Amino acid sequence: MSFIPTEGELHQTMRQWRRDLHAHPETAFEEHRTAAKVAELLTSFGLDVTTGIAETGVVATLKGKQEGPNTIALRADMDALHLEELNAFDHCSKHKGKMHGCGHDGHTAMLLGAAKYLAEHRDFAGSLVFIFQPAEEGEAGAKRMCEEGLFERFNIDAVYGMHNWPGLEEGHFAVHDGPVMASMDVFDIKITGNGCHAGMPHMGVDPVVIAGQLITSLQSIVSRVLNPLESGVISITKMQGGDAYNVVPDSATLSGTCRAFSKQTQDLLEANMRQQVENLCQAYGAVGELDYRRVYPSTINDKEHSETCALVANSLVGSEKVERNLDPSMGAEDFAFMLEQKPGAYIWIGNGSAEGGRGLHNPYYDFNDKVLALGANFWVQLAQHKLAINSEL
Ligand SMILES: [Zn+2]
Ligand SMILES: [Zn+2]
Repeated sequence: MSFIPTEGELHQTMRQWRRDLHAHPETAFEEHRTAAKVAELLTSFGLDVTTGIAETGVVATLKGKQEGPNTIALRADMDALHLEELNAFDHCSKHKGKMHGCGHDGHTAMLLGAAKYLAEHRDFAGSLVFIFQPAEEGEAGAKRMCEEGLFERFNIDAVYGMHNWPGLEEGHFAVHDGPVMASMDVFDIKITGNGCHAGMPHMGVDPVVIAGQLITSLQSIVSRVLNPLESGVISITKMQGGDAYNVVPDSATLSGTCRAFSKQTQDLLEANMRQQVENLCQAYGAVGELDYRRVYPSTINDKEHSETCALVANSLVGSEKVERNLDPSMGAEDFAFMLEQKPGAYIWIGNGSAEGGRGLHNPYYDFNDKVLALGANFWVQLAQHKLAINSEL
């Protein structure tokens, strides 16, 4: 089995790419410099490159040295966060208010490294598709790519994604059978009462008191309605209402997010929230309206494909360093849209300790360069395993 040596030449090159990307973070659908650099490198490796899918997405194909019936896709995300970086190292962000705080710079560098290596060796049968996706952070770039015909245009049979995971030891992988990341929905609740003098509350209908009741009441959906063996979260994260000491406002709003691991749970949360919002407000003489929007579905691995990923990870680091079925994350991930279209799996690669601000979306976060070769090797081995050369031909 071939592999990319840690601290070898390609590892150093990946580190340079990664640090250059880190210094020049670009957010959703504005990844122009990043996409141009990715496309230029892929072209220089000899891949067939298509740009402009979902605005700034880049897709490249590579044929193995043997014909084969299958095509698998490997996906990296390229976008950065709206976050002010607080690191002071040489490669810290040069773009004010933007930061690679989720390690997508590392994901891009690892997949580029794998593409370079595989283009030089082409020791597989069939075709590989490299997907460099824009706008993972809240803007559903993966969905846009699917809508623009990604899987049909490139005839893809299965798709794989990888995310770095702070808190998981460097040199380790985590592979889930089934749910790995939660769905993300967002909501706004508008409570319309009847504003009045705060010294004479009986003259109106106070939406702030109703908002207070709702905040508590909505938590009973997860604790009393949802099956305790299922997971769900309702978090109210914003409250707004009134701007004076002596005025009962006319309306108040509550906003937040829901998380779940199945569409059934999403349906249950939404329906019960709507019932409570409308009925509780009505009971107090106000009008309650729920605007509930589904942003990302839950990311659910296909067991056959997660087992393949675990096998490949075992071959790289040994099964004792491949965590199977850790608790899934209540964070969300738009790779979910790709897994709704095609079978595949999304795995985690250890980024080392999350202590000292090294967690995802923290202003002190940085991708761990020591794992670049390991991540690229995972892609190489997965390609060689899924698209194995038939030596009898
Ligand atoms: Zn993120
Ligand atoms: Zn991320």
